Amino acid sequence: MTDKAVIARRCVEKALEIIVANEAELGRLDAAAGDGDHGAGMVRGLKAAVAAAQNEGTPGQILVQAGSAFADAAGGASGALIGTLIMTVGQSLPEGNIDPTTLQVALEAGINALAKLGKARPGDKTMLDTLDPFLRAYGEAAQSGASVSSAWQAALPAAEQGAMSTAEMVSKRGRASRLGERSRGHVDAGAMSMLLVLRAVGQVLNEAYPDGH
Ligand code: ADP
Ligand code: MG
Repeated sequence: MTDKAVIARRCVEKALEIIVANEAELGRLDAAAGDGDHGAGMVRGLKAAVAAAQNEGTPGQILVQAGSAFADAAGGASGALIGTLIMTVGQSLPEGNIDPTTLQVALEAGINALAKLGKARPGDKTMLDTLDPFLRAYGEAAQSGASVSSAWQAALPAAEQGAMSTAEMVSKRGRASRLGERSRGHVDAGAMSMLLVLRAVGQVLNEAYPDGH
């Protein structure tokens, strides 16, 4: 079994790797409705987060430092929102054992903090349309006894469905909301980046727990 702090650090590193590979696509999605800077902002934020995550500490402390660095470096609306998400998950993780339920509680706290800061609700065509269905699916799997890595895996299809469903939505929050009806027809950039980050974490968990535990 891999040390939990190492897993937290690897999650941030893998997120950067996958976001870098999709930077242009995220920029294109954001350009369809916003200003086209989402891919670049995510890469800038995650590079700073990876650097901050190299410090020693508990998984929670590592995520707090990574989230804070992300918010400072990424800028834009999503910088503050995703920074808050990562920091709040970090603050809400227990110092001791992280099990499927304590992770669920921490994820819920982080997603609630993001929603409150952005005044967004599911259906507003934002990151939340990926995160909220993921959290519900993860919670169901965790409560029926799945391990962290299997619950995470089981919830990824709900995240994907949520992200894809934003293509049919009209934007209610952020820059894209100025477009009104014209924002329909493209997947939301932030919803896509959250899907990529959740997949990155899933890959790390699979590697750390190859037998599903
Ligand atoms: P900016 O809009 O400042 O250019 P980005 O391009 O980095 O920031 O991020 C845009 C993404 O941020 C959107 O695709 C959307 O998912 C998310 N977003 C914007 N505003 C909000 C909000 N109020 N609540 C939740 N998510 C938001
Ligand atoms: Mg933008």
